[in-house]
Amino acid sequence: MKYIDEYRDTALAHTLADEISKCVTKPWVLMEICGGQTHTLMRYGIDEMLPPRVELVHGPGCPVCVTPLEILDKAIAIASRPDVTFFSYGDMLRVPGSRLDLFRVKAAGGDVRIAYSPMEAVRVAREHPLRNVVFFAVGFETTAPANAMALWQAQREGLRNFSMLASHVLVPPAIRLLLGSADNRVQGFIAPGHVCTIVGYREYEALAAEYRVPFVVGGFEPVDLLQAILMLVRQLEEGRAEVENQYARSVTRDGNLPAQRVMRDVFEAVDHKWRGLGAIPMSGLRIRPEFAAFDAEQVYGVEAIAADEPAECISALVLQGLKKPVDCTAFGTQCTPGNPLGAPMVSSEGACAAYCAYRRNLTCAP
Ligand code: SF4
Repeated sequence: MKYIDEYRDTALAHTLADEISKCVTKPWVLMEICGGQTHTLMRYGIDEMLPPRVELVHGPGCPVCVTPLEILDKAIAIASRPDVTFFSYGDMLRVPGSRLDLFRVKAAGGDVRIAYSPMEAVRVAREHPLRNVVFFAVGFETTAPANAMALWQAQREGLRNFSMLASHVLVPPAIRLLLGSADNRVQGFIAPGHVCTIVGYREYEALAAEYRVPFVVGGFEPVDLLQAILMLVRQLEEGRAEVENQYARSVTRDGNLPAQRVMRDVFEAVDHKWRGLGAIPMSGLRIRPEFAAFDAEQVYGVEAIAADEPAECISALVLQGLKKPVDCTAFGTQCTPGNPLGAPMVSSEGACAAYCAYRRNLTCAP
């Protein structure tokens, strides 16, 4: 299959791993931002193909993992209402809130449905004007334009029975937080290819210049990631700190300008709380006041709901690349995919779930 098979070519993957081994002379710590990239690295054993001097740590790029507990509690409060049809992407349904998850709300009779597109929720609102329809909009810059478009469309059609619970986050402010930390170990980043498809990579150029750290925009297949690692290691060995684009088949420097426009029209940047990381300045997207009638937090009066995260979960350290999932004492015992304590074990993109699924030498109960 074009654009898949050539990026899973075993011989090419080994050639790239050999190239990395030849060019590395010092220890380097690299971070992939995106949970999808983490899964490819684990699934194909790429971290085990690398020379010991190249260490990979896993970043905060799983949207499910960083969605704050209180947003889940707000979603659960809204979805539990008998007058609401609540749409969510499937991976949010199992994420535990403070007491419940959305699956349990559904099991108890709540009208909770899995959506494959926000426009599906808009369609249901249009076809059922007596039903209140809410879409749970979670994710990075990748999903924000489609969600913004759905809200814009609902306003255009005057659908007063549609609203959105939005918890969007932006990648560059989180990287800035990591780079500004006294504990930071990361020396080079694989930037998320899907996010950069939307927003381009100019913001990463500013980060590279300010912190003297190289970035390579990377794709999601094994050959993509090995090539991105090679490009990063070459930059580090040569003392360069630039932004390079490995994922040129999808990403341009400026990104998708119409998608950025609709995102800006509907959302505005605000300080935002990340699960595990706390509040990060200007790292989230909020529905603009002009669209307040479609903002589910205001419509259902759940703005004041707050929650504290469970103390035993070290996901904050995992998401900053300071610990690996296996450093957590709960990993594979108290915390498993069947009984997750923290979001990185729940989400299919979470680092803890990836270690459970693909690390053959680890014991992890189902
Ligand atoms: S293994 Fe579970 S408890 Fe430990 S960091 Fe991962 S999600 Fe949290």
